[in-house]
Amino acid sequence: MDFSNQFWQKRYLLTDSRKLIAAGDTLFFALQGNNHDGHGFIPSLYQLGVRAFVVRKDFNTAEYPDADFFYTSSPLQVLQALVAYRREQFNLTVIGITGSNGKTIIKEWLYSLLEKDRKVVKSPKSYNSQIGVPLSVWEISEAHEVGIFEAGVSQSGEMEHLEVMIKPNIGIFTNIGSAHDKGFVDRTEKVQEKLKLFENAEVLVYCKDHQLIDKEVQKCTCRKFSWGLTSDATLQYKEIGFSKLGKNIELKYQDEVFQLRIPFTDAASVENSMHCIACLLVMGYSFEEIAERIALLRRVGMRLELKQGRHNCKLVDDTYNNDLAGLMVALDFLVQNAGQLTRTVILSDLLETGRDPEWVYSNIAELLKGKGVTKLIAVGTRIMAGLKYFEGIQVMVYPDTESLIQDIGKALSFSNEIILVKGARMFAFERVVSSLQEKVHGTRLEISLESVEHNLNFYRSLLAPDTKLMVMVKAFAYGNSRYELAGLLQYNLVDYLGVAYVDEGIELRENGIKLPIMVLNPSEDTFDKALQYDLELQMYSMQLLKALAEWKQDRGSAHDQIKVQLSFDTGMRRLGFEPADLEKLCNFLIRNAHWLKVTGVFTHLAGADEEVHNSFSKQQLDTFSTMAAHLERQLGYSVIKHAMNSAGIVRFPEAHFDMVRLGIGLYGVDPTAISHHMLQPISTLKTSISQVKYIKEGETVGYSRKGVAERPTTIATIGIGYADGFDRRFSNGVGKVLINGQLAPVIGNVCMDMTMVDITGIEAAEGDEVIVFGEGLTISDQAKAIGTIPYEILTSINERVKRVFYA
Ligand SMILES: *Cc1c(COP(=O)(O)O)cnc(C)c1O
Repeated sequence: MDFSNQFWQKRYLLTDSRKLIAAGDTLFFALQGNNHDGHGFIPSLYQLGVRAFVVRKDFNTAEYPDADFFYTSSPLQVLQALVAYRREQFNLTVIGITGSNGKTIIKEWLYSLLEKDRKVVKSPKSYNSQIGVPLSVWEISEAHEVGIFEAGVSQSGEMEHLEVMIKPNIGIFTNIGSAHDKGFVDRTEKVQEKLKLFENAEVLVYCKDHQLIDKEVQKCTCRKFSWGLTSDATLQYKEIGFSKLGKNIELKYQDEVFQLRIPFTDAASVENSMHCIACLLVMGYSFEEIAERIALLRRVGMRLELKQGRHNCKLVDDTYNNDLAGLMVALDFLVQNAGQLTRTVILSDLLETGRDPEWVYSNIAELLKGKGVTKLIAVGTRIMAGLKYFEGIQVMVYPDTESLIQDIGKALSFSNEIILVKGARMFAFERVVSSLQEKVHGTRLEISLESVEHNLNFYRSLLAPDTKLMVMVKAFAYGNSRYELAGLLQYNLVDYLGVAYVDEGIELRENGIKLPIMVLNPSEDTFDKALQYDLELQMYSMQLLKALAEWKQDRGSAHDQIKVQLSFDTGMRRLGFEPADLEKLCNFLIRNAHWLKVTGVFTHLAGADEEVHNSFSKQQLDTFSTMAAHLERQLGYSVIKHAMNSAGIVRFPEAHFDMVRLGIGLYGVDPTAISHHMLQPISTLKTSISQVKYIKEGETVGYSRKGVAERPTTIATIGIGYADGFDRRFSNGVGKVLINGQLAPVIGNVCMDMTMVDITGIEAAEGDEVIVFGEGLTISDQAKAIGTIPYEILTSINERVKRVFYA
């Protein structure tokens, strides 16, 4: 293919219409996934000014006279071919990283190790997929000396596509674990697939202690640079001691012996550091130079974090580094979470890039304007020099971080803003974050927005393309968030939201949610508000409908069209019209049709999750179908029919009707055990150890002296109690928590704000993190321990527990 003409020379490649920056300089690829089709976004992108599209052959372009189209049977293949072509234009050293764990950390660390003397380009965050890799590699320019890209595969046959785009000179194979096992016949096949990344590499760095990898690597033709404990590794290492500051190691390479300190003590960080050390040796750095740079490594803030700021601000914390590609990702996250808040960015100099400052700062200005940012706080002398580009944005400048911090709360104040704090490592912007942040009570519920999206996509993949999706965000999204998740769902274009009360709906509206919202429990005194905020109330009885009609007569205006959802009770015996009510209901609706509009009709299964109730469920669905058909005939128009909750979506694919109502599954809990392995847990409830005590045999612990030490016992007092939602039924050994990877049982009674746990034999100190549920100890485990269901555990977490969101 010839990629040399103007059509392909665009600054931005776009695959996700929500991430548009500068329409005129964008080339859009209409990609198709399991449940979305990029072609559907072409009309809106065209309206926004995009004029270059790569589309499938059968796409009808008649309505876009002045746009350019490239036709293909696979837009994804064209995207990858274009990027492979671009890669060929540049002659830089490219480091390609693959393996099960550690890819992103090694990439970020290599970047910070090399940026001092090399101009480096790298993939943002964990962009390592079939789409992430091309978008990353596209950022290479003339001036870059080193590129660092990660590659991830989930099934056989994928790596060759990534290889032609990355074409690494130096390869790093991190390790092999269980991730994506099901996409491969066995581990050997998985290793072989990953090794395809290095088919044209000059040298491959890997750990010789991983036997399977070592064995397969021998089949590669490239030079091997191994490290490990064994004497036949190219670089031998052994640990010679450790302290709080890190691990001391001895390295032996080509008869030279050298000692240095890795500033971490955990095994994974040591392994990641060793990959970096080996890579630097390959690149010709001396041991002295490496030791100096390794000592400065810090833990990577890999995920974007959304924190509560003071004065109703939200903070997006991205303080690990600052580069253009990362800025784009962070700005998308800002937009996604902005709601009604004003968009502000605190930004330091960009130190790397290797492009001329004019180009850099005009690009940043374009980015900020494209994302609706209205205020910029610029920190550093270089960015100050680029200010002329930021016309139209309110700009304040500070020469350094210190002077900015001194102004916060004085000359500089923030309210009702969402603030992206993004700075290069040396600007130490974590101090800016902490001065803007609301002080946090130690117990927190961490929510992974990425996992929410993952679960959403899983359920979407089960739906036919035209089936609508309502997500139930009642009870603060099952205890997870007041409105942040609703924002994410809106960004991901779900069709409807469901809440329990009108107040919940109002809160969503006040935070920028424009999706249709259904309210499950309306009452007569909320009709006013419901109409004002455009909420669709569930009508479940003639009484309620009549009350609505009366309200309409007394208080509503003549033009008000009121939208309602009707519920049919087909066996749940909770709320809803029964078959015997149907005639009356239809007559009423017809009489009042001039103001009353039925948007949807639904029913709820009593036993969607369990096989034993299948015939009852089928009967409910039959009743529902019959009632709904009758209603539609009488009304003379069709309405959205819906019946399935999370369990039903998986178990009754034939009964999705026009829409499904997703609840607990989105929050990472599988109600059926069928889709268990497809879901990711979204939340982790964490607290910390306040104090450690040593108890003699026979002593008692806590209220009513219920906890008795049967042996000399070490206990930890942790900062969570029943007022936080740590159920009192967890008392006396029933409940456990995870401390440094080990289970610690509750000793004695759970108190209001604190709990004592037995940590005998567990290495733990004051301040250590405690996991109440999350990875390694699931919500379902905890629910089982006290004989309840995950729904109750989730929704019991008190509001005072801070919610922290990660990208
Ligand atoms: C809560 C609720 C749902 C969602 O149920 P899950 O089991 O959490 O998927 C669906 N429909 C109605 C009417 C609900 O009240």
